[in-house]
Amino acid sequence: MTPFDLSGRVAIVTGGNGGIGLGMARGLASAGAAVVVAGRNAEKNAAAVTELEALGASAAAVVVNVTEQASCQALVAAAVERFGRLDILINNAGTNIRKQPAEYELAEWREVLETNLTSAFVCSQAAYAEMKRAGGGKIINIGSMMSIFGASFAVPYAASKGGIVQMTKGLATAWAKDNIQVNAVLPGWIDTDLTRKARQQVNGLHERVLERTPAGRWGITDDFAGIAVFLSSPASDFITGTAIPVDGGYSVQG
Ligand code: NDP
Repeated sequence: MTPFDLSGRVAIVTGGNGGIGLGMARGLASAGAAVVVAGRNAEKNAAAVTELEALGASAAAVVVNVTEQASCQALVAAAVERFGRLDILINNAGTNIRKQPAEYELAEWREVLETNLTSAFVCSQAAYAEMKRAGGGKIINIGSMMSIFGASFAVPYAASKGGIVQMTKGLATAWAKDNIQVNAVLPGWIDTDLTRKARQQVNGLHERVLERTPAGRWGITDDFAGIAVFLSSPASDFITGTAIPVDGGYSVQG
């Protein structure tokens, strides 16, 4: 087996039907994994499965709402029923509500925290027994530059993404003995549906990102294929609890 080979491995990608999640799913599929795409929108799920199958991979779709514990548990059960095991979980589903802090309703705070942070904990809990049964596993949690930096227009989002980094360290520490590695990926500014909306809502954002990113461009979803394969494969077996920026240098620019 080569260090990056995922043949015979089974992965779940929440929010795998578009954006960064689909970029990661394409990477896993190309490396030989069977991929379960999990999102709320059945049509987007089905289109993603078609795309992954076109790469020669096995793929399946499960409609899931990651804010519901039963839905996360059913997702894991469906993946195991379809492909017989679970090796990789990418907690990527996420949302944002952009406002000034004083303007949030409590329900909006909860929606962001539950979609971005609580869901990742609940899905990890649901996956744990199956990964143990498989002899080990890989969990990849998606943070953000706002895991590190503050933003006046995204306080709940930054709180959720900061929490992702600390949760990653805790799970990594707890489950290392089970040969389960847990790491986080911190995307810079990436061109997806999520940020297309941000660019409409936040004046000058597009230019500010270009100016601050040493690579001189917005990220694209294919920028996430390699890191997904690396953190899912034997190549990263002694790496756990880290948070790796994939940001074109955004976070190291002084
Ligand atoms: P998208 O809006 O393209 O993707 C979000 C995904 O999450 C969709 O596939 C959506 O599927 C899914 N999703 C949202 N809510 C739920 C839910 N309750 N249950 C199940 N699935 C859900 O955004 P991105 O690809 O940009 O974002 C992916 C991740 O990357 C997020 O965690 C985001 O915070 C993070 N990120 C993105 C950055 C960027 O610049 N784009 C920067 C930093 C972090 P569906 O609608 O079918 O439910």
